[in-house]
Amino acid sequence: MQKNVIETVFGTKVFNDDVMQQYLPKKTYAALRSTIENGEELTPDVANVVAHAMKEWALENGATHYTHWFQPMTGFTAEKHDSFLSAESDAHAVLEFSGKELIKGEPDASSFPSGGLRATFEARGYTAWDCTSPAFLREDAIGIVLCIPTAFCSYTGEALDKKTPLLRSMEAISKQAVRILKLFGDEEVTNVNCSVGPEQEYFLIDRDQFLQREDLIFTGRTLFGCMPPKGQELDDHYFGTIRERQASYMKELNEELWKLGILSKTQHNEVAPAQHEMAPIYSTANIAADHNQLVMETMKKIARRHNLECLLHEKPFAGVNGSGKHDNWSLVTNTGKNLLSPGKAPYENKQFLLFLSAVIAAVDDNAALLRMSASNPGNDHRLGADEAPPAIISIFLGEQLEDIVDQILATGTATHSNRGEKMDIGVHTIPPIKKDATDRNRTSPFAFTGNKFEFRMVASSLSISGANTVLNATVADVLQKMADKLENSDDFDKAVDELIYETLKTHQKVIFNGDGYSDDWISEAEKRGLPNVKTMVDAIASLTEEKTIEMFERQHVYTRTELESRAEINYEAYSKAINIEAKTMIHMASKQYIPTVIHYVTSLADSINSITAACAEADLSVQKNLLTKCSSLLADAQNALNDLKAADVEANHMGEGKAQAEFFRDVVCKAMTALRAPIDELEMIVDKEYWPVPSYGDMLFEV
Ligand code: ADP
Ligand code: MG
Repeated sequence: MQKNVIETVFGTKVFNDDVMQQYLPKKTYAALRSTIENGEELTPDVANVVAHAMKEWALENGATHYTHWFQPMTGFTAEKHDSFLSAESDAHAVLEFSGKELIKGEPDASSFPSGGLRATFEARGYTAWDCTSPAFLREDAIGIVLCIPTAFCSYTGEALDKKTPLLRSMEAISKQAVRILKLFGDEEVTNVNCSVGPEQEYFLIDRDQFLQREDLIFTGRTLFGCMPPKGQELDDHYFGTIRERQASYMKELNEELWKLGILSKTQHNEVAPAQHEMAPIYSTANIAADHNQLVMETMKKIARRHNLECLLHEKPFAGVNGSGKHDNWSLVTNTGKNLLSPGKAPYENKQFLLFLSAVIAAVDDNAALLRMSASNPGNDHRLGADEAPPAIISIFLGEQLEDIVDQILATGTATHSNRGEKMDIGVHTIPPIKKDATDRNRTSPFAFTGNKFEFRMVASSLSISGANTVLNATVADVLQKMADKLENSDDFDKAVDELIYETLKTHQKVIFNGDGYSDDWISEAEKRGLPNVKTMVDAIASLTEEKTIEMFERQHVYTRTELESRAEINYEAYSKAINIEAKTMIHMASKQYIPTVIHYVTSLADSINSITAACAEADLSVQKNLLTKCSSLLADAQNALNDLKAADVEANHMGEGKAQAEFFRDVVCKAMTALRAPIDELEMIVDKEYWPVPSYGDMLFEV
């Protein structure tokens, strides 16, 4: 029988378990597996043998180069290629790759953001092999490159990347969760993994149109543009039939992802026109994070092969929904048990209720920090804008769990739980289906969805490492306190009941099952004392709050210096992003829009003159009205342009840091909005033949 394409291509470019078994001596394989599974130290001997096997496999598959692949604080991935050519080569090429080269790289790191962790002259940085995320081959125009996932740190050992803190946080939560499980009598579990499934939203537009817009090229979003007559109001794109061009893109995307061992699972059209989504099957957090970076890169690369451009920005078009990333998160033991699975009778599943209340406590205590972990400049356009969860963190539990929480809060323990019923939809030929115990709530930023939490705030272009680092570390910290208490109690069952009750009582204010988009919720949340952090710049401060620093240091996830440097990096990243947007607007307004409108009004004036010459009595009211209206908007645009230029100059004369970021947000962003308004109005009036860039209608519907 012919093999299905998934079976044929899946994992063919990955140094995965099968390949390891095939290429490694049994002893080395066992040693490597126990490092991967139990975190045991990797010896140089093992590294040498693995390096040799990896080289053989890569060369057989056509690789010419290898690279340490890492995730610096830019949010993108970084790589520097080395060919396998050795210095011993003379007449003949000698190819080599040693254990040392596998486990350690030393790129000149001076140009990566470090937030003051190092001066520019302190250039040394190290990349260190993360053997828990499989190496893979990347094939494109450059040939085939062996990519080795690595962590990236400075000469002094501080994390300069997104992966190191994530790996540390995974160790932290595993350690504390195992302690709790032991108390519940589980002696088998040695490790608890955090599982993550990130749903990735994106836009696809025609590349020729993309290339005509400097705003898309430089900033990833449109900075001007008025809505076409039709937007997303009919909801006809959502789950609609996928058109041929996008379908062939998705087909190629899936195949490329499968080759890389990425479990690409679902695909569909999203709410906004030209918007789509892909979700993989979940995997261990660091692999999921690596894979999500690869997904984003592959989405962009494949799009170009189809003369499409993939936009990952959170808000590429004003007026229609933007993109986010839903980070599905749960805890799974090495024996395969999901700790967030409520089971058939959640009311008596004390272990589940304890883990559940730990998550609730962690989210409530660290709401601003979580909000920060999902933030980038683009996401400020979405959070709280009626298309994504508000900037207020709350937790949706659903009817079944909320009922249990209510019972516990009323009487100290729960005695029953609602079950999903059978549903009759009134058509006899359709078999009866069983309802879930709980409906969904799309408006919640942090929703329990059956056996996992779905953190729905994460920015679409952002690495998922930050969000999962915060989730793991904060939950680990709560679990640690719980384990300390329980280990010292004489009556375990009673202590667990009390702990669940106390935790829920203290943190019930973060639970909200209603409509998160409503205005009522905003005032209700204020009454409950939940933080509503409206912008990224405001959220950054949460990184360096004393209680946050203590929590991260307790969990060995970030040091004080690492957190301070991250705050700096974020202020800078924000300022730089807005600065580029402002400069792009200045450029487009000066070079494209204003000259275009001048041409247009001149043509109107010429037309008025020539018509008057031909027929003095002709009615010229239309042309004259247009001429006055356009000239007045043109003057508004020029004034707004001058203001924006002045604001941007002032911003650039300030020192880097918080004050500068705030100035960009409060003054420069406002000046940008003021410039956009007259230009968008002009777009509605000026003859399309004259307009210098493709319109929203062209980009969203003609793809
Ligand atoms: P929806 O859009 O309905 O939320 P999707 O199928 O698009 O659902 O995405 C759900 C995501 O959650 C998938 O990536 C899936 O693998 C992931 N997921 C399912 N179970 C778990 C779990 N236990 N832990 C983490 N992620 C999970
Ligand atoms: Mg979802």
